[in-house]
Amino acid sequence: LIGDLIRDRIPVSRWPSVLFEVKDNIRRAGVLLGEPLERGAAIRATLERGVDATLMEIKVSRLRGRGGAGFPTADKWTGCRDSPGLAHYLVCNADEGEPGTFKDRVLLNSYADLVFEGMTIGARVMGSVKGFLYLRGEYRYLLEKLEDILARRRAVGLLGRNILGEAGFDFDIEIHRGAGAYICGEESALIESLEGKRGRPRNRPPYPAAQGYLDQPTVMNNVETFACAARIAAHGGEWFARMGTRQSSGSKILSISGDCARPGIYEYPFGVSMHEILDDCDAEDPCAVQVGGPSGFLVSSKEFGRCISFEDLPTAGAITLFKRGRDILQAVQNFAHFFAHESCGFCTPCRVGTQLQKKILDKIANGHGTASDLEELKHLGHIMKTMSHCGLGHTAPNPVLDMLEKFPDACGQKLKNLVFEPAFDLDGALE
Ligand code: SF4
Repeated sequence: LIGDLIRDRIPVSRWPSVLFEVKDNIRRAGVLLGEPLERGAAIRATLERGVDATLMEIKVSRLRGRGGAGFPTADKWTGCRDSPGLAHYLVCNADEGEPGTFKDRVLLNSYADLVFEGMTIGARVMGSVKGFLYLRGEYRYLLEKLEDILARRRAVGLLGRNILGEAGFDFDIEIHRGAGAYICGEESALIESLEGKRGRPRNRPPYPAAQGYLDQPTVMNNVETFACAARIAAHGGEWFARMGTRQSSGSKILSISGDCARPGIYEYPFGVSMHEILDDCDAEDPCAVQVGGPSGFLVSSKEFGRCISFEDLPTAGAITLFKRGRDILQAVQNFAHFFAHESCGFCTPCRVGTQLQKKILDKIANGHGTASDLEELKHLGHIMKTMSHCGLGHTAPNPVLDMLEKFPDACGQKLKNLVFEPAFDLDGALE
């Protein structure tokens, strides 16, 4: 079929969605990916409990944002609810663009009702009448399915006016498609994009909770955060807080890929060790793991006792495994190319820094690097981390710096053996 489509010059945008569908491959389910919640159950529980008590349940649950930053959800929702404005908006960030992350795709493909339920609860708490699902451009094939689910929810009174017969509880969700820019995953750039502008991170403060979409109070959460909120509304905050660690309650969905026999989606309570994850997915003689995608951490085998949690190894969900013998320099070089391509170009430290990083790594990989290039990479990394405008620039040097610290041989073996030896004793000459 694909051959026919190419031969007949049918544009990719008109190919049948079924061609893009990918198997969910859920290997380990937990409280989020377990039994689906009865449709509307969490909203009913919210209406019975009341708005303040629901917000209190979210607080008791100690839920933190699953997009990576880990901001307490109850504080974000309270901040938005208490900010004055003409309208309060709610956005679900489904612009899942971090290489190696594919857990939001699974939630939207198989648990979309749970996500929409969480959004509706958030809307009830904040008094929003309008919400957006900002869908990653590459997930276009999910659009029809998601629109069908929204239509079904409207038909049974779970969206629209007077939801479940509650007078004045009006809320609806619109799906907005992204166009493939990684930077639009950053919340203020996403809001710019939602407003029809170029996706460029805003200055903060003001934060979106006070001044977001159309300069009105806006709450933005990750797909998984809304799914958690729905489960908490149905089962209570204490039930959720019993799982995980002191600073990271609940469970985390991980997308595992790379050198292992069982790649796929795994849900664990927070606090799971790298050793356990590697055993479960049948990792093949692992020597390194990239936790959290290119902007995360490169973890060496000495650190496999570390745990997935906000206090140790935080991640939005990507776990990429490298077996012994893999060229770590090549992997890091790929990440550097990715960031150089995705930098939005607004600020100099990131725009120039990502390009320089890419060029220096290319030079080393081609066998023309010297020891001073390694020093230059460290210096550059420091400038990018401290002076960039947004998270992309702050995190782009992470894999490079981790490689230099933990895998010095990855570059060392490729360096030209140039050592600066002065032709005479400079110190002696000065004396
Ligand atoms: Fe754009 Fe990079 Fe600056 Fe962020 S850090 S504003 S992505 S150039």
